[in-house]
Order: sequence, then C-alpha cells, then structure tokens
Amino acid sequence: MGVLGSNIDRVKNILAGDYTSRTKSGVGYSKTTTDHSEGDIWEENGKKWTIKNGLRQPITRFDIARIENIVPLACPECSKPLTHYLDTRSWKTTKKCFDCVVAEETRMRADGTFDAYSKQLYKENALAWLEEKRQQFELFINDEESLKGFVTENGTIEDWYGKIDKTTIKQKFEEEYKEFKEKIDSL
Ligand SMILES: [Zn+2]
Repeated sequence: MGVLGSNIDRVKNILAGDYTSRTKSGVGYSKTTTDHSEGDIWEENGKKWTIKNGLRQPITRFDIARIENIVPLACPECSKPLTHYLDTRSWKTTKKCFDCVVAEETRMRADGTFDAYSKQLYKENALAWLEEKRQQFELFINDEESLKGFVTENGTIEDWYGKIDKTTIKQKFEEEYKEFKEKIDSL
C-alpha cells in the first residue's frame, strides 16, 4: 500500500475515533495545558472545555451523559429507591427505575408502538455518536493550538498523516460522515 493509501486509512480511522491517539506520541502539545490540567472543566468562547488524555476538548453530549449516569436515590417517576443493579442499569439509558421501564415497554408492546420506539432510540444514539465524532474532528482540525508542531507554513499536516493537507482531510471526513449519516437515516 502506498503512502496515500495509508493516509486514507488513517482518515477513515477518524470516524472510529483513533485520531486522539496522536496525543500519545504527539510533540509540542503541552503548550495548551499551561492554564489547565487533566480533568479541569472551564468555560471559554461559550463552550465548556476539559482536558482529557492531555487533549483540550469541548465537553460533549457524551460527557454530559456520563455525569447524568450518576444514579440518584429514587426513581423520579415512581419514587422507588434505585438500589437494585437493574435500576442502576436502566437509569443509564432511560432515567427511570427498571420496574417503570418494564411497565412502559409492556404498555408499548400492547399498543404496538414498541418497535418504532426502540428503532428511534437506536437511531438517536447513532446520530449522537456521529455528531460527537464531528465535534471531535472539528476541534482537532480547527484548533491551531493543538495542531502546532503538526502543520507546516503552507498548511500541510505532517505527523502520522504523513503529508496530507487540511482540505483533503476535511473532504475525506465529509465523505465518511455522509456515508454514516445515510446508513443511519436509512435504518
Ligand atoms: Zn420507577
């Protein structure tokens, strides 16, 4: 496989989330972490930011979801204590206790709306995942600070991309994005 071929493979990995691994072997990166350190949360340009694995990044829907996964004492629908492991598990996806989820699904199975509901839920999750990938990609490609040491004066990114310009990477990303989006939309 030629240099271009392996670059395209690398770009494909963007959607798989591999690109953040660049920080592990990245050079000249520590500059952005002078004011903040790993795990810090702060606001800048109307966005909430954090540092994760040494990489400055916006707090995304998935981070918010992780925060929301902290299980409260009681189910907001029926006030039952959320102590059973099945409650902990159902809280993560539904924000309800397990009994409430079972009751609701039973009702939906009975009135024939369950299939549409679970399909919709799956699509929403897939779309949220894809938007998170876009957010991460745009952060990576637009953050001059994090690209320092990787981009030459004429805009060529030299690192594990080999030599590939920003426009080409963006094009590749858009192609991959479109392909995934179409797959999700057709579900
Ligand atoms: Zn409940």
